[in-house]
Amino acid sequence: MREYYIASVSWGKDSLYMLLRLMEEGVPLNEVAFYDTGMEFQAIYDIRNKVLPMLAERGIKYTEFHTKRPFLYDMLEKPVNGKNGLHLGYSWCGGCARWGTAGKQQVLDANAKKYADSGYTVFQYVGIAADEPKRIERLPPQKIAPLAIWGVAEAECLQGCYDRGFEWKESGFRLYDLLDRVSCWCCANKNLKELRNIYVHLPEYWERLKEIQRHTDRPMKGPGKSVLDLETRFAAEIAREEENKQLTLFT
Ligand code: SF4
Repeated sequence: MREYYIASVSWGKDSLYMLLRLMEEGVPLNEVAFYDTGMEFQAIYDIRNKVLPMLAERGIKYTEFHTKRPFLYDMLEKPVNGKNGLHLGYSWCGGCARWGTAGKQQVLDANAKKYADSGYTVFQYVGIAADEPKRIERLPPQKIAPLAIWGVAEAECLQGCYDRGFEWKESGFRLYDLLDRVSCWCCANKNLKELRNIYVHLPEYWERLKEIQRHTDRPMKGPGKSVLDLETRFAAEIAREEENKQLTLFT
């Protein structure tokens, strides 16, 4: 029976490190698949563009999937029949309302099934690190976590990518210095520390977040924590910190 190997990547640190190692070690790999929400940081697309020639050189197929409709249409404009009647858009994606990821696994699995239906035994490599045991336990047999097999933890993935010259640079910052996870820039799962870093260091993304907030009633991080509320809060925190610094200088 012929075998077919697909690596699913998000171009974040774990899946990128997995892919780089798979290529370095000459592990069987036929295809790399990426599901693009269209809401990734530019640095993610830059990393993808840097790796694509490496795939081409090795004759590895690259497949990119896209959302059926623009993400922002589903977020802000799509007519949705909710508990309280008809409203427009699903609003922020994240937490228990992760509507943006709903199609992703289906699409990637359907791609794998296409090869299975043509007579291949298909294996999917997934970028789950050795320090994520619960996610590893849930994997079906056809999905393989090379990072777990190699005993590589998340922090080592990041360092391994940096060592190979992949840094996710935006506006002079490495995104992983500002964010715990480099997911969609509009992800409601971002914590307040990450959002404050976006406000301070990545103002162009902050402006985009404000624009979204202006078009949806739901505050991004819950009651009293809309993007506009958070901007006031972060500005006040920064002003207070500056004041304290000045006071320390004169005491
Ligand atoms: S990263 Fe966040 S915003 Fe993007 S699809 Fe996943 S849950 Fe939704």
